[in-house]
Amino acid sequence: MGLYRTDAIVLGHRNIGEADRILTLFSPVKGKIHAVARGVRRPRNHLLGGTQLFTYSNFLIMESRNLDNISQCEIKESFHKIRANLEHMAYGLYFAEMLRASTPIEDKNQELFRFFLKTLYFLQEWGDLELLSRIYEIKLMAIQGFAPEIFHCVSCGEKLSGKMRFSPALGGVLCAQCLKKDTKAVDVSREAVAALRIFIKKPYRELISLDLQENVKKQLKNALYPFILHHLDRKLKTIEFIDDINCLKVQTGMTGGK
Ligand SMILES: [Zn+2]
Repeated sequence: MGLYRTDAIVLGHRNIGEADRILTLFSPVKGKIHAVARGVRRPRNHLLGGTQLFTYSNFLIMESRNLDNISQCEIKESFHKIRANLEHMAYGLYFAEMLRASTPIEDKNQELFRFFLKTLYFLQEWGDLELLSRIYEIKLMAIQGFAPEIFHCVSCGEKLSGKMRFSPALGGVLCAQCLKKDTKAVDVSREAVAALRIFIKKPYRELISLDLQENVKKQLKNALYPFILHHLDRKLKTIEFIDDINCLKVQTGMTGGK
């Protein structure tokens, strides 16, 4: 047991006792870890800034038999723009929950760390957050080793043509001949499948100005969300928060985060 230093992003936190806070951190060298910031909720505590959600810091951590202790932290990027906007915050929580649910404790994955950090930078600037969510979902699943089959039929392996459906359970697109292989498969148009392909292939910066038709976006949501739930094998609590915010937007006539 000893001291170690690591960069990490705060994925979640929970207050305990009078002044402590347990953090779920995501580190490029340690993966997902839990650590406690003791006394952090007391006035003028030097750790407070670094324990806020999504903050990216360099931490000095003391190993302990039970829960590691945070001794110091130096903020590299606070991502305050995400926390300052309810809609951005809701999507940030959704992204973090999906990451936590798909990552075991102390499973180091530098590619996943770089991807999540990049996602937070883009989340601050992105206009259509529903579209960003679809891109994040498929990229995350691909990095975690669950990329859906979207180039050939997931059942027979033939080239896709004609009517297609997406099967969350089988993990990909079914061709016209195989539609019956999964009665719960959802309709996807040629445009929706083309969108999935570019989400996988292209980096965020080339997708930020992408404009898709509403019906295509709806199909992508209907396909990807059940696909993720199938792999995570649990419901995501934050999705209700996002639905509530989207309902509120419709009721109040808000037009999105642009
Ligand atoms: Zn087929």
